[in-house]
Amino acid sequence: MRLTTLRPKVAMLGSRVQSVPTSSDRRITGRTLQNRRLRIWSKDPHCAQCGRLVAYPHGFELDHVVALANGGADTDANCQVLCIGADGCHDAKTRSDLGQRSRRGEGGIKSPPRSPA
Ligand SMILES: [Zn+2]
Repeated sequence: MRLTTLRPKVAMLGSRVQSVPTSSDRRITGRTLQNRRLRIWSKDPHCAQCGRLVAYPHGFELDHVVALANGGADTDANCQVLCIGADGCHDAKTRSDLGQRSRRGEGGIKSPPRSPA
């Protein structure tokens, strides 16, 4: 039967394709996250904050627009590229996210004009 000949292929596919996440609540990690990083970076390889062009994979961090800690969703739509480094936007955003936990409703992010350049 044809089914018999198909079966080995299906088995091969199964080992190669990572299983679809079954729990939507679980935070994605590992290769899935790497794929998301590449996907989002490919769409727009610029820092969402300062607009600087960032390099893949070490020039940026994937950031949640609305932090998970603040009730944001762990989805592509809620992710953005932020540059990293001494004057990177990711650090500033993370600090800002944490600071905002006590004050709700204020969406604005004041970027610190720290660099003398
Ligand atoms: Zn930036």
